[in-house]
Amino acid sequence: MPELLTEIRDQLAALQEQKLLRKRRIVDGPQGPLLDVEGRQYLAFCSNDYLGLANHPALRAAAQAGLDQYGVGASASALISGHTSVVEELELALAAFTGLPRALHFSTGYMANMGTIPALVGPGDIVFSDRLNHACLIDGARLSGAQFRVYPHADVARLEQLLAKSEHPRKLVVTDAVFSMDGDIAPLPELLALCEKYDAWLLVDDAHGFGVLGPQGRGSLAHFGLQSQRILYMGTLGKAAGVAGAFVAGDALLIEWLLQCARTYVFTTASPPMLASALLAAVRLMQEEDWRQQHLRTLIARLRSGLASLPWPLLPSETPVQALIVEDNQLALDLMAGLREQGIWVPAIRPPTVPKGTARLRISLSAAHSIEQVDQLVSALHALAENHADADSRRIARSIVE
Ligand SMILES: *Cc1c(COP(=O)(O)O)cnc(C)c1O
Repeated sequence: MPELLTEIRDQLAALQEQKLLRKRRIVDGPQGPLLDVEGRQYLAFCSNDYLGLANHPALRAAAQAGLDQYGVGASASALISGHTSVVEELELALAAFTGLPRALHFSTGYMANMGTIPALVGPGDIVFSDRLNHACLIDGARLSGAQFRVYPHADVARLEQLLAKSEHPRKLVVTDAVFSMDGDIAPLPELLALCEKYDAWLLVDDAHGFGVLGPQGRGSLAHFGLQSQRILYMGTLGKAAGVAGAFVAGDALLIEWLLQCARTYVFTTASPPMLASALLAAVRLMQEEDWRQQHLRTLIARLRSGLASLPWPLLPSETPVQALIVEDNQLALDLMAGLREQGIWVPAIRPPTVPKGTARLRISLSAAHSIEQVDQLVSALHALAENHADADSRRIARSIVE
């Protein structure tokens, strides 16, 4: 066997041994609160389809109309001949919806960050990054060649010390707006104030806020009422918007620069136009109906009050991402397995995805869930907590006897 293959075989075996080998489960049919997984139906709390649009009839119809009008593929990069009228319309709609001057459409959020950060900063510059930021902000910053400084989660005072010391020509602060594993919201007003004070730029990754936060889901900037030429706003379109893709919005000159220079924009085939048709329908629904955001808020409150008396705490969060911290890796896996036996699917998240000692169940809610479905999860968790307490007291009794 060639050496590379033996090395990789051993590395895979090591992952297996540490119980870190991941396995995909095969889902049949459309996304929604009820998922068909390998022959069994589950009530699922694991998707980022926060508004329940991934299988919405209006989006399906729009995708079909887009398919009829544009065919399947865009067949070239946007700068050659792949920029279609429907994507042009989508960019205008996204800019208007978020209240920003101009927007540029990317194929994915990962690519948006990987292209945007190196277009803004390079060697000699500096990027400041919240410790809990998403992998693609970190990777984009590394790719840029700029110096990379991590500040403790949401620690504005520490960030200020770092900014005050920096003499780099360009300074960029990058942050998730809603942290994907904790569900809390970044202190964006304070971050922006620091950027203004220290002449830095702010890249806000609103993957989990776009469609969810602010009036009609206009996003985290609207949630706080923030506006500044120093902000670049990245929203993804595969989560609350229900489809796929992303956009970066901000000052028109900055967006023109990204269009010219962001390599993940320039050197990739434009995504299928029918996706943009579906996305236009998603933005229209958000503008016309805000009951989904309201229903989400009801579900969030219901879940939080239902789980308040569990032995494990929920992290503070007003978003559909609710993290139940159980600390112990094996307990997180046991609870996930216990729920699965009851036909409920909630993912256990362990280090290294989250810091050591903070293993958790990551519950994500969708406007497509009913109150009864949330209640079902709450009762299932209470039943598991009682079993766990019984097992614990049996263990303690046994150790006393011994
Ligand atoms: C999901 C996610 C991304 C990546 O977006 P994709 O469109 O899925 O590539 C970026 N940032 C954050 C915070 C995310 O949660």
